[in-house]
Amino acid sequence: MARRLNWRAIRIHRSYSVDEAARALGVAKVTVRRWIASGDLSVIDNCKPMLILGDELSAYLRKRRSRKHKLHLDQCYCMKCRAPKRAAFSEAELTGANGKTAMVRMLCETCTTVMHKRISLQQVSRLSALVSLSGTHRFKHLGETNQPCVNDHYKTEA
Ligand SMILES: [Zn+2]
Repeated sequence: MARRLNWRAIRIHRSYSVDEAARALGVAKVTVRRWIASGDLSVIDNCKPMLILGDELSAYLRKRRSRKHKLHLDQCYCMKCRAPKRAAFSEAELTGANGKTAMVRMLCETCTTVMHKRISLQQVSRLSALVSLSGTHRFKHLGETNQPCVNDHYKTEA
């Protein structure tokens, strides 16, 4: 199992060279360069040697960590960003439903790619508390499930 990176070691108000970031996190420099090369970790523009903002680094590490976890209810996996993303403008739309599940469509908050996911009917009302959920009128019976689901495995804390 990979060692967990301690993003709390990163101070968000300073910037890091690749070397400093690697040392602070206890990883190889090549690892940090790989994060940058993948486009997932941004560096300060026009700066040589490369400098990474502490809060970018911290956000990247948190995102990376959460990638291994289940999506939050108001997140979908964006194929383009290759990361779980929240809904742009906090808006989502129900696009279909059957007896047990509903399809939700939302736009990636980062790149506005359309994302879909299937949620249980019990989750619909909870999702509508998190985002402005349109399309529910087409599936009237969905609004009636206000009981929290006991099998709920989604963590709602950020
Ligand atoms: Zn995206």
